[in-house]
Amino acid sequence: MLTQCVSAVAALALVGLPLTAQSHKVTQAEVDRITKEAILIDTHNDVTSRTVEGYDIAAPNTRGQTDLARMKGFLGAEFFAVFVSAEYVNGNHSANRTLQMIDTVRTDIIAAHPKDFVFATTADDIVRAHNEHKIAALMGIEGGHAIEDSLRLLRDYYALGVRYMTLTHFNTNDWADSQGDAENPKVAHHNGLTPFGKDVVREMNRLGMMVDISHTADKTFWDALETSSAPIIASHSGCRAVTSYTRNMTDDMIKALAAKGGVVQINFGCEFLSQRYFNDSKPLQAALREQYAEAIKIEDPAARSAAIEKLRAEFTSKVPPATLADVVAQIDHAVKVGGVDHVGLGTDFDGVACVPPELDSYSKFPALTRALLEKGYSGDDIKKIYGGNLLRVMRAVEQKARDLSTTPAIHSEMKK
Ligand SMILES: [Zn+2]
Repeated sequence: MLTQCVSAVAALALVGLPLTAQSHKVTQAEVDRITKEAILIDTHNDVTSRTVEGYDIAAPNTRGQTDLARMKGFLGAEFFAVFVSAEYVNGNHSANRTLQMIDTVRTDIIAAHPKDFVFATTADDIVRAHNEHKIAALMGIEGGHAIEDSLRLLRDYYALGVRYMTLTHFNTNDWADSQGDAENPKVAHHNGLTPFGKDVVREMNRLGMMVDISHTADKTFWDALETSSAPIIASHSGCRAVTSYTRNMTDDMIKALAAKGGVVQINFGCEFLSQRYFNDSKPLQAALREQYAEAIKIEDPAARSAAIEKLRAEFTSKVPPATLADVVAQIDHAVKVGGVDHVGLGTDFDGVACVPPELDSYSKFPALTRALLEKGYSGDDIKKIYGGNLLRVMRAVEQKARDLSTTPAIHSEMKK
């Protein structure tokens, strides 16, 4: 009798069990099938900072995470970062650098490897590339100073194929506040977006270029969200409720972004993923800074590499990297707050110093598929997170541009 009671209670309990407890035995065949069917879209990759210096993406990348051998068969689409460092603002070299970075994507990656990469600008292009077993290569500008305060340059970049722009990098520009220098009293802040900054957002809507708020100050995010008539993205950010780094988004921001149809693309950088790593890495970096400065001065290349490697090993032994479980925790939090239709992935590969060793290349993504299945995520949910959600945003942005196709180009001038 007692056993019957227990089993009845157990049966009742099963009905109300949370998703996570219903996990089944995950098979490798299931992991492989879902990973293969999903169109994995990474919205932020910085290998372009290497290719512009002469690195061939088909050669093994011993210092970073991105090379052809580890992309093929796993990655559906790459948004290569057209990263323009703030240093190019001095002397007005930002546009020059932007054009050089666009050229490294078009010439050194796509044209140099036509069997593997295909130039892409639309959601349909990405799906077509996936069906042809090629990697769709897209571009996102990182740092709104790239347009040198001119909507004409913005239009030129769109014409060259750029499909998102991160409104700021770590630097506040003439029309948008950044998160990176929010505390710097020497910087002229605008309290979010200036009137010209809002015109930048409107012109991006008219063109069909995604508005990206990673790196921006929180107020810039709110202004961009209010101004944009299309969904917006965070191309490489995470959840601030999990890791307090202010490059990550608050729950309120994620909710509001999701309510307007956008996506937050989870960053794989250790300092974004793990509060422990975020807390412990900064003081140790500061402590090792002098030794590092000495090490890079060593003339003999072999001795220099050995000294740098020794420091790196010391750092890693004291502050272990973030883990696959941290990535899952970030995704899971974003899903709980924003919904499964509003989360994706922006690895920041080759742009951050540390990523989880279990996820340090696209070829390791089956491990993430398995972890999400074991957490109770369905194959359909995983496909949305890997790329389906971003495709939906791209389509909405493309549709908005079609709706606005009879609207004239904006000709507002930046007022200094
Ligand atoms: Zn970045």
